[in-house]
Amino acid sequence: MRYGIISDIHGNLEALNVVLGELSTARIDEYLCLGDIVGYGANPAECIERVRWTKPKIVIAGNHEWGVIQRLDLDYFNEWARAAILWTRDALSKPEIDYLMSFNIIASEGDAILVHGSLETPTNFNYIVNEGDAFLTASIADEAVTFVGHTHCPEIYSIDLNGAKRLSKNSYTLEKDKRYVINVGSVGQPRDGDHRAAYAIYDSENRTVEIKRVSYDIETAKRKILAAHLPEYLALRLSKGI
Ligand code: ZN
Repeated sequence: MRYGIISDIHGNLEALNVVLGELSTARIDEYLCLGDIVGYGANPAECIERVRWTKPKIVIAGNHEWGVIQRLDLDYFNEWARAAILWTRDALSKPEIDYLMSFNIIASEGDAILVHGSLETPTNFNYIVNEGDAFLTASIADEAVTFVGHTHCPEIYSIDLNGAKRLSKNSYTLEKDKRYVINVGSVGQPRDGDHRAAYAIYDSENRTVEIKRVSYDIETAKRKILAAHLPEYLALRLSKGI
């Protein structure tokens, strides 16, 4: 099975369209989405529509969905995220809100488990930022591979009984006797200093994973954020990839 895995789209329709265009030519069998379709960007409804159009096998909830549907207190969020969540609530219809409410917080698919943040308490949306965090999540998982988002920084960690190791390449063949924690990066607001949209392709038969990057029309995405009177910083950070 070849999976196209996307996460942290954040209402950025320009980025999402380019990513889905690439995936449409990549012989994908199933689409998986790791949450945060909405929040920060100016096109949350359009991004929901585009994600639904892929007929994703699984969409799990991110903290921004939970903020919008009021399952997560606004105190959890910084000021920019809070402003964006309040704006997003107003921008969505009742059926769109109902769709966000339908997402589970974790899900299994084959030899993989999907969670937005980390596995120790998924409803706390903790970040996996180092080897120790990755080791903890891999030791909780029943599955060999854990796919995450949330930090907006693509990473691949391999884990064995000696600990976790951050791998430096973007594509790997997964070894049988190891576990993996794979952050697929962010479609709509990358924060690793590379402004290009990120996504992943996972081939469960060949056991290969590739993290891909693709340029998109950042200026249009920025212009829409400013026109929507969302915080200016949310537009500026897109060009910097922070
Ligand atoms: Zn996010």
